[in-house]
Amino acid sequence: MTSLLESYAEVAGAEVVDHLRQLARPLAGMKIIHVNSTRVGGGVAEILEKLVPLMQELDIDTSWEVIEGEDLFYQCTKNMHNGLQGNRINIPQAQINAYEQTNSLNAEKMGAKLSEADFVFIHDPQPAPLLGHCPDRRGKWVWRCHIDASHPFRPVWKYLRQHVRGYDASIFSLAQFAQSLPHPQYIIPPSIDPLSDKNIALPAEEVASVLADFNIDAQRPLLAQISRFDRFKDPLGVIQAFKLVKQFVPSVQLVLAGGGATDDPEGEQVLKEVEESSNGDPDIHVLLLPPDAHRTINALQCGADIVLQKSIKEGFGLTVTEAMWKGKPVIGGDTGGIRLQVVNFNTGFRVNTPEGAALRIRYLLHNPEKMKEIGERARLFAHDNFLLTRHLREYLTLMTSLHLNCQDRIEVYN
Ligand code: UDP
Repeated sequence: MTSLLESYAEVAGAEVVDHLRQLARPLAGMKIIHVNSTRVGGGVAEILEKLVPLMQELDIDTSWEVIEGEDLFYQCTKNMHNGLQGNRINIPQAQINAYEQTNSLNAEKMGAKLSEADFVFIHDPQPAPLLGHCPDRRGKWVWRCHIDASHPFRPVWKYLRQHVRGYDASIFSLAQFAQSLPHPQYIIPPSIDPLSDKNIALPAEEVASVLADFNIDAQRPLLAQISRFDRFKDPLGVIQAFKLVKQFVPSVQLVLAGGGATDDPEGEQVLKEVEESSNGDPDIHVLLLPPDAHRTINALQCGADIVLQKSIKEGFGLTVTEAMWKGKPVIGGDTGGIRLQVVNFNTGFRVNTPEGAALRIRYLLHNPEKMKEIGERARLFAHDNFLLTRHLREYLTLMTSLHLNCQDRIEVYN
């Protein structure tokens, strides 16, 4: 049977996988725990789903824990998320209490395990206070921030910083997101899994059948945005851009597909606003998908002519790279991680307004050759920069560096 790693060698190159094996050797047998706040939905779960088994296959004893809380906890962490991405939000004390209490309860359940681990990766703000409940911890703790924290609302960051400052290191997706902290900060952009159901090549018949299931006409141009229904993803701006394009290209269709994440309480309200704004237009397909609809999302991304990710804040849009990997031109919001992912005019376009998005959509729809050329460059760019193997390599390097207390270089022996 082909191992997971061998399968990755076929996509990323044998030398890439050899390098991973070499980097992992000194870490063999170590206990690593990742902690986040949802098993499904959103980019973090998407990444851990495959990063964890790959680390296991490299003989690193890796596990994934999920903290659990009640409504007030998720309201707090959603507010925190919004505040870190710049919204002026005053988080009610009752929510803060729920946040701290939830972490304390979760620490009772998993604290002993965490304290024993050689490395603990805490993803995002939700489980950040766990560190404070493990005073006898043995290993290195790393706070991994997936959010665009470049311009946080200060009181929110000031509060969270108390929980984060004690970590041994933190990771941000972009240098611009780094914060003033008394420990080393590493820059590691996220990645996509080229072998997941979401990203493997699909038979054309499957793509056609998914489009037909949703009454999408494969003969007419299709725009797609795949995202949680979240204001930062600007689904209403996408609808506005679509309406502008439709005045010039009446045959155009739009699919807005999203699902809830269990740690996102605002989705329902935003979905309602999206439905209102689409106003019964039969060419706007608003789909609420189950969390395991990976092949469906793959098919929608493959079936689209252009993929949008018109976010107004974005730590790193996995959906952007997923679309690029499928050779699609992406029109993304000119913000955060999308600036790293979409090379403007080269692998797609970055825009600031619905009007800007509409302009680029019309340009591409009228220039199919350009669309193809940009899509091919996008695929190559995703291959070279944003596959899981690169992400894993950087985690391994970081762990080695922390393990050996390296200052400015690491040495890896065969
Ligand atoms: N996604 C999904 N179902 C949906 C919407 C999104 O599986 O209905 C996936 C999407 O394909 C991507 C991830 O969830 O892999 C979202 O990651 P991204 O970084 O784009 O956004 P986040 O939700 O983390 O802000």
